[in-house]
Amino acid sequence: MTGNAADNHPHHRRTTPGRVGRGDTALGGENVGHGHVESAEAILDKEYPVLDKGFVRLVDYMGGDQRIVQAARVSYGEGTKSYRQDAALIDYLLRNEHTSPFEQVVLTFHTKMPVFVARQWVRHRTARMNEISGRYSVMKDEFYVPDGRDIAAQSDDNKQGRCEEPVDQATQKDVQKRLTAGQERAYSEYEELLGLGIAREIARINLPLSLYTEWYWQIDLHNLFRFLRLRMDPHAQKEIRAYATTMFAITREVCPLACQSFEDHVLGSVTFSSAEWEALQEVLTEAAGDDPQRFEAAARRVGISGRAVDRFISKIKSGTQQ
Ligand SMILES: Cc1cc2nc3c(=O)[nH]c(=O)nc-3n(C[C@H](O)[C@H](O)[C@H](O)COP(=O)(O)OP(=O)(O)OC[C@H]3O[C@@H](n4cnc5c(N)ncnc54)[C@H](O)[C@@H]3O)c2cc1C
Repeated sequence: MTGNAADNHPHHRRTTPGRVGRGDTALGGENVGHGHVESAEAILDKEYPVLDKGFVRLVDYMGGDQRIVQAARVSYGEGTKSYRQDAALIDYLLRNEHTSPFEQVVLTFHTKMPVFVARQWVRHRTARMNEISGRYSVMKDEFYVPDGRDIAAQSDDNKQGRCEEPVDQATQKDVQKRLTAGQERAYSEYEELLGLGIAREIARINLPLSLYTEWYWQIDLHNLFRFLRLRMDPHAQKEIRAYATTMFAITREVCPLACQSFEDHVLGSVTFSSAEWEALQEVLTEAAGDDPQRFEAAARRVGISGRAVDRFISKIKSGTQQ
């Protein structure tokens, strides 16, 4: 589908082979002036398949980790420092919700997904998008049919979700057959109406939610992280989760440090109410008794190291963000 699109890509045309100084010394391979990130350039226009017929591809990006650092340091007039200092700064900004430097990085995706996924997606209002028009174009005969292993009964404990275990194989096949039959019927009626000369905007109105649609979607990194936090969460529908997970992998190529901090501090985190936290603090303090080293040992066991260990202990003691 992408062919040689990358060769003609405007992003490629505007960047030059020469690399401008400061980016070389700090965040490897990123040219500060143009926000050129080697790992992102390598995947521009690459199609990442999602579901049975969908995809995500990175059309373009503006800035990367270096842009976040430069934006944050503009107030002090300081340039780029070492890789480690830059990584620490990004981590500090992210965990303390200093969000505006992350808004300086912008990504544009081209995605193809079923309409029911698009319906959930479009609730994230802080993006700019342009979708294929069913009034202008004839919609393609492309519908989502879930893999048998994704066909499950209604969950008993989650009103919005499905059970973990799929239904038996005979039922899986029956569901797939019914979905496909409905899609074929709807599409053949659509074609018949078009054949009768009925307007595309009317002929399409009975097409089902499983129909594939496509759009360009542009968002800044701060708001992309909000989208990813909600849509990579196990509470989100599996189908949109598949897109969010793929987009996170792509975003890692644009700004690996910011993504690592996002993964460390946001993705795997939970929030406690103040009362819950009070209770937890009491239990933790009791458990550690007179031996504060126990916090440190526990932290190191799960891979927390360096100054992050002090931050962890300070957080438990003070109950405030560090
Ligand atoms: C698991 C799950 C289940 C859901 N179920 C339902 C459901 O059953 N029904 C339903 O209707 N929705 C549902 N949603 C959608 C949900 O309620 C949110 O609308 C959606 O997740 C978008 O979140 P957001 O508002 O943070 O995103 P965004 O729209 O991207 O907003 C990001 C931030 O910008 C702010 N913002 C955005 N636009 C403006 C504006 N114009 N002015 C001021 N501030 C603005 C927001 O307040 C927010 O802080 C569900 C979402 C999830 C993840």
